[in-house]
Amino acid sequence: MTLGAYIQVPFCQTRCTYCNFHTGVVSRDRYEPYAEAICREIATSDLASGPKVDTVYFGGGTPSLLDPALLTRILDALRRASGGELTEVTLEADPETITQQKASAWFAAGFNRVSLGAQSFNDRELQAAGRMHRREDIYRAADFLRAAGFRNISLDLIAGLAHQTRESWEASVGRVLRILPEHVSVYMLEVDEDSRLGKEVLAGGSRYGAADIPDDDAMADFYDYAGERFAAAGYEHYEISNWGLPGRHSKHNLKYWRREPYLGLGAGAHSFDGLSRWANVHDPARYVTLIERGASAREQIETVVPPQALQEEFYLGLRQLEGIDFARIERDYEPQLSDRLITLRERIDQLRSNGFIEVDGPRLRIAPDRLTVSNEIFVQLLG
Ligand code: SF4
Repeated sequence: MTLGAYIQVPFCQTRCTYCNFHTGVVSRDRYEPYAEAICREIATSDLASGPKVDTVYFGGGTPSLLDPALLTRILDALRRASGGELTEVTLEADPETITQQKASAWFAAGFNRVSLGAQSFNDRELQAAGRMHRREDIYRAADFLRAAGFRNISLDLIAGLAHQTRESWEASVGRVLRILPEHVSVYMLEVDEDSRLGKEVLAGGSRYGAADIPDDDAMADFYDYAGERFAAAGYEHYEISNWGLPGRHSKHNLKYWRREPYLGLGAGAHSFDGLSRWANVHDPARYVTLIERGASAREQIETVVPPQALQEEFYLGLRQLEGIDFARIERDYEPQLSDRLITLRERIDQLRSNGFIEVDGPRLRIAPDRLTVSNEIFVQLLG
C-alpha cells in the first residue's frame, strides 16, 4: 500500500463567480510563510514510518501562483520525509499564470503532470465566469508546458457555464482535441447558492450571465457529446468526470475512489488513513499560526464506522466506470451489516431492472448511459 499526498494552496488571484471552494485572495507576502508552514507540517507528520508517498497533488485554489522555488521547497520536504519514489506529481495551474520559465522550473523540480484549469475556450463564457484567462492563454500555456517537457497534461472543462450553447460547447471540445492533452476532466456546473453567481440567480438578476445558464438537459447533452468525441479520439472514460489516454488515468485521484490512504497538508486539506478521516483548519492564517506554534492543525477527526465505510464503497467506488467488486464488499461487511446488505441487494435489483445499474459477475457498475443521473442513483441506493 502506498500513500497519496495532497497539498492545498487556498489562494487565488480573483474569485470566480461560481466558486464555492475555501479559497481567498490574499497579499503575495503570505505565500512564503504558508509554504514554510506546509514544510513544517510535512516534517512533523511522521511520514517516515507509514506507507511511502508515491503520488502528490498540489491543488487549490491556484497553486501555480506560488513562486516555483516555494513549490520546489515543499516537494523536497516531502521527498525527504517520505523517501518514496514519486511516480505522479501533479500541479493544478491556471493558464494565465504559466510562463515558459515557470513551466521549466516546475519540470526541473519534479512535477510531471499539470492539470490545466481551462474550463472553456469561449471568451464570453470565461469572462462571465470571472476567469482571468482567455482562449489564447490556454494554447500558450499548453505550448509552454510541452516545451518544458511535460508529457502528461490534464485539461478541465466545465459544462453548464453561463452563455454556453451546444455550438460553443462543441467548439470547446474540438479545441481540447487540438491540444490533445493526455487527460481530460469534465465537470457539470452546480450553482452553489453561496457563490456570487448563486446569489445572483436566487435574486433573479442577470449579472455574471445568471439569466443564461444552460438547464440540466442541456448539460447532460454536453456531457454525452464530450464523451462521444473523447472516446472516438482514443480516450478511456474511467471515472464519471474523467477521461485518460491509455496509461494516463490519474493515479492520485484513483486513490480517493478506491478508498486508499492519502494525507492532506495545508489549510482545509482532508486526509484518510483507512480507518479515520480528518481535515485541517480552513483558515490559512490560523493554520500558519498553529503550525508555527508546533500545534496540530487537525480538526474534525472522525472514525469511519462500518455503515459509513459501506456507504463510501458505493458512493466513491461507483464513480469509476469499472464499478465495484460487490462480492468482496459482501464478504467484508456481512458479519456486521447483514441487514444493510439485504436492503442494498433489493435496491440493486430494482435499479438493475430499471437499467440504471449493470452487473457483470461479481462487479457492479452504473450503466454508462446513466452516468448523468448518478446523483439520483446514489440517493436511491443509499438514501
Ligand atoms: S480558480 Fe478555482 S478555486 Fe480559485 S476562485 Fe476560481 S474556481 Fe475558485
